[in-house]
Amino acid sequence: CGIVGYVGHRNALDVVMGGLRRLEYRGYDSGGVALPDPTTGRIAWAKKAGKLANLDGVLAETTMPETATGIGHTRWATHGAPNDRNAHPHLSEDGRLAVVHNGIIENFAVLRAELEAAGHELQSETDTEVVVHLLSDELQRTPALDDAVRAVCQRLEGAFTLVFTDAQQPEVVVGARRNSPLVVGRGDGENFLGSDVSAFIEFTREAVELGQDQVVAITRDSMTVTDFDGAPAETTSYHVDWDV
Ligand code: GLU
Repeated sequence: CGIVGYVGHRNALDVVMGGLRRLEYRGYDSGGVALPDPTTGRIAWAKKAGKLANLDGVLAETTMPETATGIGHTRWATHGAPNDRNAHPHLSEDGRLAVVHNGIIENFAVLRAELEAAGHELQSETDTEVVVHLLSDELQRTPALDDAVRAVCQRLEGAFTLVFTDAQQPEVVVGARRNSPLVVGRGDGENFLGSDVSAFIEFTREAVELGQDQVVAITRDSMTVTDFDGAPAETTSYHVDWDV
């Protein structure tokens, strides 16, 4: 339902939780955050059904690393009950990767059967979780996160805004979209992803709207947008001059 991604120089957990709060107006049933911890090479995460106050409660009792990269999600369940386990982020089995997702992966049942036959043990009832396991397998062949995300997107049907973080590539956050919105916020030494501009309006009003079937990789100082084949893609830049 609501998505935030951040790479920059601030405390990512604060930026992501702030963004999720500004997206609360959309309505949601669960919330979660993922931070790539470079000291462990694994994702630090927290998620909880119910209001963001419930997630705040979990975070107050969890030691989260101080990172400059993070992603977050508020969920509006379509596949799988609105409980803690089905809340996003979803992680790869090795704890290296996390994904958040808005929309519906229409062909998730086929992909899930294929992943389970290959030995993956899925933890949730969501349509979303297949995506992170596909990415984990793809990264064995295709080491760069954005390249691997493009390959995975080619296998997905339906509507999705997806945002990924990799604890072994914490300097980049990658997003992808089809039939569901994704906006980039351009800052100074920091960049943002959001399901809408409310996610980052507190920090920047310079926005870039992604087009259909595009993948974006952001670092502190760069933004690269391609289509699902890796060809450079057209985007629309604008200044947000209204109050959100
Ligand atoms: N289909 C996903 C789920 O049920 C994402 C729902 C959403 O857009 O929040 O978990």
